[in-house]
Amino acid sequence: MTEIRPQPGIMDIALYQGGQSHVAGVADVVKLSSNENPFGPSHRAQEAFRRTAHTLHRYPATDHAALRAAIAERHGLDADRIICGAGSDEVITFLCQAYAGPGDEVIHTEHGFAMYRISALAAGATPIETPERERTVDVDAVLAACSPRTRLVFIANPANPTGTMIGADETARLAEGLPPQAILVLDGAYAEYVEGFDGGAGLVEARENVVMTRTFSKLYGLGGLRIGWGYGPRPIIDVLNRVRGPFNLSQPQLETAEAAIRDRDHAERCYAENARLRTWLSDALAERGVPTDRSFANFLLARFADSEEAEACDAWLKSDGLIVRQTAGYKLPHCLRITVGDEASCRRVAHSIGRFKESRL
Ligand SMILES: *Cc1c(COP(=O)(O)O)cnc(C)c1O
Repeated sequence: MTEIRPQPGIMDIALYQGGQSHVAGVADVVKLSSNENPFGPSHRAQEAFRRTAHTLHRYPATDHAALRAAIAERHGLDADRIICGAGSDEVITFLCQAYAGPGDEVIHTEHGFAMYRISALAAGATPIETPERERTVDVDAVLAACSPRTRLVFIANPANPTGTMIGADETARLAEGLPPQAILVLDGAYAEYVEGFDGGAGLVEARENVVMTRTFSKLYGLGGLRIGWGYGPRPIIDVLNRVRGPFNLSQPQLETAEAAIRDRDHAERCYAENARLRTWLSDALAERGVPTDRSFANFLLARFADSEEAEACDAWLKSDGLIVRQTAGYKLPHCLRITVGDEASCRRVAHSIGRFKESRL
């Protein structure tokens, strides 16, 4: 018998469940379970990825300067206060590793993204969950949960899996009300889907206690590449760069992401199609007796009478080759999260759910 044991908290981590991608016995399957861009990455990004094959014997850049410059140019930010990671997940990990440890508290909300709790536990910190109001972040509940031990507060805006959003006045009030040792992290994974929204960059500029995270996994269709970034006050970015491995991103990641963010036409087309089809699908579901909250992202949270009906609908969709996401793990057992796919997929979803509802009359 050895006495080999992991650090406290590690065994409390439930393994992350990725979106399913196969159904046994069904050939024509559409995956709508991971909020992936149905149009895929830009062709320019794909070309850049192929070009990097010739230089794979070289170590990548450690400072990510070219990509940071492209991000800064696109969003009007200070390149020196951008940090890039293997997905925004890695930036979330850096934040927990650098700012939270045993005895510290990390706040996330009731239906908040799973990675906040996982990263907090991995760092040895204590995750604290606060209630939401009608599937929307409740700033007062978050502020009420703050204590002298609070080090990080994670809010996705728009949120996953609800798709709801809080306004700039609310995020500002939250940042203003935090205790002095706490950082507000605004996760902007879906910010690109909201017209005119800066993801919280303005609040980062105005304050010393706000960090914004962003990703190439959603609008840019690069979930498989693993690349995201963070923007924050210089002292915080300096800390995060100390825990970041020098070679955390490969040259294919860096150059592909740079080409993607420079292809504004592709991003614009993906944005417009998502907005159009999201409205179409939410209307189609409402006509079939399935309500959704107004979504600001690239998915809808469909609500059913109870968990039994949601599970039955999930099975029905699956047998029609449509894979969506169960949200029981997010304390929404009566809901299903459905990624807005291309037009044909949206029509298939509406048709299948319509027949499911008829079957229950
Ligand atoms: C998809 C998603 C991310 C992105 O994660 P990556 O590691 O960048 O792929 C981050 N936060 C939320 C809330 C998400 O839904």
